[in-house]
Amino acid sequence: MTQAEHHVVIIGAGFGGLAVCHGLAGAATRVTIVDQRNHHLFQPLLYQVGTAVLATSEIAWPIRHLLRKRKEVNTLLGVVTGIDVATATVNLEDGAVLHYDTLVVATGARHAYFGHDEWEPFAPGLKTLEDATSIRRRILLSLERAERETDPERRAALLTFVVVGGGPTGVELAGAIAELAHQNLREDFRAIDTRTARVLLIEAGPRILPSFTPDLSAYALRALQKLGVEVRVGAAVSDCNDRGVVYGGQPVAADVVLWAAGVRASPAAAWLGIPADGAGRVKVQTDLTVPEHSEIFVIGDTATVNAWHGKPVPGIAPAAKQQGLHVAATIKRRLRGDSTPREFHYSHSGNLATIGKRSAVIDFGWIKIRGWLAWWIWGLAHIYFLIGLRNRLAVALSWLWIYVTGNRSACLITQVDHRIKTG
Ligand SMILES: Cc1cc2nc3c(=O)[nH]c(=O)nc-3n(C[C@H](O)[C@H](O)[C@H](O)COP(=O)(O)OP(=O)(O)OC[C@H]3O[C@@H](n4cnc5c(N)ncnc54)[C@H](O)[C@@H]3O)c2cc1C
Repeated sequence: MTQAEHHVVIIGAGFGGLAVCHGLAGAATRVTIVDQRNHHLFQPLLYQVGTAVLATSEIAWPIRHLLRKRKEVNTLLGVVTGIDVATATVNLEDGAVLHYDTLVVATGARHAYFGHDEWEPFAPGLKTLEDATSIRRRILLSLERAERETDPERRAALLTFVVVGGGPTGVELAGAIAELAHQNLREDFRAIDTRTARVLLIEAGPRILPSFTPDLSAYALRALQKLGVEVRVGAAVSDCNDRGVVYGGQPVAADVVLWAAGVRASPAAAWLGIPADGAGRVKVQTDLTVPEHSEIFVIGDTATVNAWHGKPVPGIAPAAKQQGLHVAATIKRRLRGDSTPREFHYSHSGNLATIGKRSAVIDFGWIKIRGWLAWWIWGLAHIYFLIGLRNRLAVALSWLWIYVTGNRSACLITQVDHRIKTG
């Protein structure tokens, strides 16, 4: 086989898959990248779509357009349903089959309900644009229904917003909902006072933001409380149903319950017929290949590897990107005839989380920052990592507008979900 015929198939155009594609620029390969969605999504700002800060098009880009200049790259919209390692083929839902010489699996993860998938309709998670617009719809519909509700108990339930999980996503969601209800929408309703809305953040562990140092967690707790969020730690949710949640044995009546606790990897391990860890992640070798299949790499949220000074690599965007670039470099070296396995080493830049529009916590390891300065650094970092000048300007303008006027422009209820009663 000539090098030019070498076919790399990448499943998933998230942070990991796109990084492989970018890293392969100029290599003598043919590349096919297949994704079940037509867009690459900047998940770190998804909660801002869910809370009416940003519009969907500000944080997602058509994959085909992103790769338009790469003539050797073929972009396919399709759902992968299986991999046959014996014949080196990938199966798509519509019956199509792709042959690969090198395969990269970068299919990410979804939220997990710790064995209680039946909770999902009552406590949706946040992973896709559809999830975000559905969450936005639930929040805004609940306020609309509260406006027309005369029964005080029902109205209280409609004005109660519960977020389960005190990691960065839960903290960011709770802070943004509190600001939306307590500040941004306070003049928009007549029968209800949105400042009385109750925002409850429930975390089963002893503190929120467990991946941060205890003093930054404590700061985040105070910042959330200042925004009017009630934080409950040390009690696990034991039920989610159409009336709300039960935690620590206590029922809480709430129409909007959001799930930000736990993730489960895509079913890549099952496709490949190899062992996974408790969260469904493929246990890859130190060079990110699958045992006994040096032609298959698994990266990002769907893989696990102890490549961070002996610790597992965290499930965050920079880790997926670094893995993607490592895989691209390995493929290029192999094409030059060097097949020596090279270990992947993860380099951690820091942990960031924002609490509302004026506060954030940042742990760079060598320095810890909190408050408004951290918020500005968080904002600049996220704008920098967005794709394209237009989106950077649009997001910066949206934030500046909200910062100065307090008006969120994306308070739209669209695609009404018929499972939600409209009153
Ligand atoms: C709400 C939220 C907030 C986050 N905030 C941050 C943050 O602030 N900072 C940070 O660093 N990280 C954050 N993360 C984590 C970060 O987004 C992930 O670690 C990163 O996206 C992992 O990259 P990946 O390439 O492994 O997977 P993804 O980026 O999830 O990409 C996976 C791709 O595979 C596709 N796919 C999946 N299954 C199939 C299939 N069967 N067939 C075809 N295509 C398929 C998907 O459509 C998707 O495009 C956040 C995640 C979420 C959900």
